[in-house]
Amino acid sequence: MSNQSNTIRLGNLLDDMWRVHAYFHKWQRQRYKDGMPYANYNAMSAHLTELKRTTHPHWNALPSQAIQCELKRIDAAYQRFFDNLGGRPHIKARHKFKSMTFPGASGWKLKDNRISINVKQYNETKHKWQNDFLPYTFHKHREIEGKIRRITLKRDNCGDYWLCITTNHTDTESLPTTGQSVGADNVIQGMNLIYPQIKFGMKDAYLTLSTGEKIQHPQPLKQSLTKLRSLNKNLSRKVKGSNGWWRAVLVLAKHYRHVANQRKDFHWKLATYLCERFDIIVLETLNLEGMKRRPWGRKVSDLAFYQFVEILKYKCLKHNRELHQVGQWTATTKPCSDCGENNENLSLSDREWRCPDCGSHHDRDINAAINILRVGLAT
Ligand SMILES: [Zn+2]
Repeated sequence: MSNQSNTIRLGNLLDDMWRVHAYFHKWQRQRYKDGMPYANYNAMSAHLTELKRTTHPHWNALPSQAIQCELKRIDAAYQRFFDNLGGRPHIKARHKFKSMTFPGASGWKLKDNRISINVKQYNETKHKWQNDFLPYTFHKHREIEGKIRRITLKRDNCGDYWLCITTNHTDTESLPTTGQSVGADNVIQGMNLIYPQIKFGMKDAYLTLSTGEKIQHPQPLKQSLTKLRSLNKNLSRKVKGSNGWWRAVLVLAKHYRHVANQRKDFHWKLATYLCERFDIIVLETLNLEGMKRRPWGRKVSDLAFYQFVEILKYKCLKHNRELHQVGQWTATTKPCSDCGENNENLSLSDREWRCPDCGSHHDRDINAAINILRVGLAT
């Protein structure tokens, strides 16, 4: 979305929202230090009213629905922390505070590709805060169906603003059943766990299906990843903080976004493809713990696989498909998928092998995918 002069105000608005965010986190911490009980959403809300009246009158200008939403976010983070579901809530760095949400249907007006955000302005002559609307035009990607549940305004790393409009519309048309099942082996994911010292490149198939099909990364994504490497190199040659360095940072950020979009597009298409062909899909689970210790590049590929699984979960739910996940420590590589005999002599370099027991010839990944399918169907 864009609007020359208002874009600046939008940035200021987010920065001001960040100040609210930081203030209330610090306030909770101070209360804790002083031995006071935790202040829940209602208590924070009451404190906010007090602040607006006394020390922080300028907060009256901010969209109140978005502030309420932020306080609810903080409250939820603390509740998760108290229930041992999450770590201690932390204050986001200013540049990492990137979004604000308007729940429900108030705080904004929407017409065609124009949105007005409700803020307040102080009227000097009347001595009171009055409604003001910040109008923006945006590029609409698709028609909005259903009733709007919430609107989120986001700023990305490239400094562009996005509106995410969530509606109650559900697409109920699901794909016809096929009676087919499939197991899929993700080479990068599985191998990294067992052989962290070996690098897996883009040459390997992204997914190997038990049907024998190998799904590769799309060519444009491969090219983009190569370009990403050269842009990174370019950045490292610049003097940190110089004009040239900042320019390179922006070019890199834009390219990252491009790669992320290409990858997401690939994931959606692949998830749709799998749902079109199979009723039951079996994958290996991810080791999220192990992922934290991974070197950067591989972490990205695993995070990407995680994103793929999330998309696939969504698609499976929508189309009534079953998605099974097989534990990562289940032996799926060494057993022969024909006779079940473990091939203990199998080494990583063996991309193909012959079963010493029954003589079947196997492709390493296809064999693993078949085993994954079998374990998935048995559980
Ligand atoms: Zn065999």
